[in-house]
Amino acid sequence: MNTRILEEAIERAALEAITRSVIYIPPDVKEALKRIYSEEESESSRSQIGAILRNIELAERMKRPVCQDTGILLYYVRVGYEFPSIKIIEKSLVNAAKVATKTIPLRPNTVNPLTGRNPGDNTGRYMPYINIEFIDGDILEFTVVPKGGGSEYVSVLYMPPPGEGVKAIKRAVVDAVLRAGPMPCPPTIVGVGIGGGADIALHIAKKAACLRRLGSPNPAPELDKLERELYVALNELGIGAMGVGGRFTVLAVHIDYAYRHPAILPIGIVFQCWAVRRATAVVEPNGSYKVFQ
Ligand code: SF4
Repeated sequence: MNTRILEEAIERAALEAITRSVIYIPPDVKEALKRIYSEEESESSRSQIGAILRNIELAERMKRPVCQDTGILLYYVRVGYEFPSIKIIEKSLVNAAKVATKTIPLRPNTVNPLTGRNPGDNTGRYMPYINIEFIDGDILEFTVVPKGGGSEYVSVLYMPPPGEGVKAIKRAVVDAVLRAGPMPCPPTIVGVGIGGGADIALHIAKKAACLRRLGSPNPAPELDKLERELYVALNELGIGAMGVGGRFTVLAVHIDYAYRHPAILPIGIVFQCWAVRRATAVVEPNGSYKVFQ
């Protein structure tokens, strides 16, 4: 297939994925928010969740971003070894970010960390950030995650003495949520990455927070149990929706792990606010594609 045509198809798929992700909250998240709305007993927290649900409805009806902070764009790419052209992927994904900034529009959020210079199109060094993984087959699949600044602000890495094990993990998660308070716009999904190294722990924590569907059980039974325990413990903190006090501070705790060096126990904790933005595109070698949430 003509490379130019494929490049345009990837760009269109990415533009559609970005557009969907910033306007429509994924169905699993909407369901979870409706559930806690019906179960919340605190009146002030219930009114916050009600406002969030109305906000979601209005965004859908008016086809406008669900939050003014349209985040920085992260792409999680899985590309088949047999996909016809690897080198066009990055260019197409970056172009889609530029076009989306104008057409949706997105808030131009990327700035030089030292000078504050803003290129105005959500690009810049390493931006949008593209994670690439190679897989068998000939398709290209990517999920776009516009990640808001408020929830990222309180993301954190702990390095407890490795001998403390699970006790240290529980303490770190509770400490992070208490310190974060209302800042990450609760109810949040708390991503926890255990092991690997400093960067790996945060990377897998972010993937767990932003990509994993709510309601999907953790495939590791011991982590599934830990997730349930932490979910109960964190909601007992009483921070509530947007920090006004209530039964639901978190929608879920999602944990992932990597093997580690015996001398370290990195624990990465990444928050995803209620405004979960994600959409996935699958592009075939012939340029046809589908986008879904
Ligand atoms: S933390 Fe999330 S909901 Fe809050 S302002 Fe940022 S993007 Fe919006």
